Amino acid sequence: SPGALLGPAEIRELAGRLGVRPTKTLGQNFVHDGGTVRKIVRAAGLRPGERVVEIGPGLGSLTLGLLEAGASVVAVEIDRALAGQISETVRVHAPDADFTVVAADALEVTELPGEPPTALVANLPYNVAVPVLLTFLQRFPSLERVLVMVQAEVADRLAAGPGSRTYGVPSVKAAWYADTRRSLNVSRHVFWPEPNVDSALVALEKREPPVTTATREQVFAVVDAAFAQRRKTLRAALSGTFGSGVAAEEALRAAGVDPGLRGERLEVADFARIAEQLPVAAG
Ligand code: SAM
Repeated sequence: SPGALLGPAEIRELAGRLGVRPTKTLGQNFVHDGGTVRKIVRAAGLRPGERVVEIGPGLGSLTLGLLEAGASVVAVEIDRALAGQISETVRVHAPDADFTVVAADALEVTELPGEPPTALVANLPYNVAVPVLLTFLQRFPSLERVLVMVQAEVADRLAAGPGSRTYGVPSVKAAWYADTRRSLNVSRHVFWPEPNVDSALVALEKREPPVTTATREQVFAVVDAAFAQRRKTLRAALSGTFGSGVAAEEALRAAGVDPGLRGERLEVADFARIAEQLPVAAG
């Protein structure tokens, strides 16, 4: 019925009508449970009328929940058949809603129509979840908060802190932009088709990056090198970056970091101080 969220029957009916055969390559698992959609929307903590960007609206499950909450939504969908249908789905279920769809690969989108979004809310395509998240944080500085559903293991990695087994490149890069918190678990049973893994919500609150004379690219290059071989000490892992083990050792000491540590012990501000020792560092 118009106004309601999409349930299993509607998801199947819409997919059938469009001839959509969900593909793994595009991470197409559609939520068919209104309760889950409302939980996601509540967890997003949107302000009334907030401008939201959604990545991968699919058949519209989450989109309708966002619109029901009064958000103004711009959605980016790579699948042309889905992008072509979504406005009609919105028109039927939420006729007065403020909604725009952009048919494009989210990784390629450099601008969005309308007001700049202050929130990103999405059930992300799993295979590109981390790059899409980091790309949007970088490209759209208007974003103040993010609530995304990702596979549970990726949620753990994004929200991990130094010293944790799951701490790595995604954790440090996310921490450059935001305070990251793992939120609710979501069962695989709320999706059609059902994925092989459970999911979880991750909430990010934007804040200023660490104060540093190094650029974000320089800091991220140090992070990538530090974790490229997890078991190596920073001295060994960064020897290529700084030209030699001796140079790496000097740079690490100048940054106030023990060269015998591994990258998994450092926080983003430590990586920034190391990046300041790069010969080409700004300032
Ligand atoms: N939001 C819907 C829901 O919750 O039911 C669908 C979520 S599904 C996990 C991911 C969606 O992202 C699919 O609709 C897929 O076609 C789309 N997608 C995959 N890769 C994309 C990309 N690079 N850019 C934009 N959308 C993409």
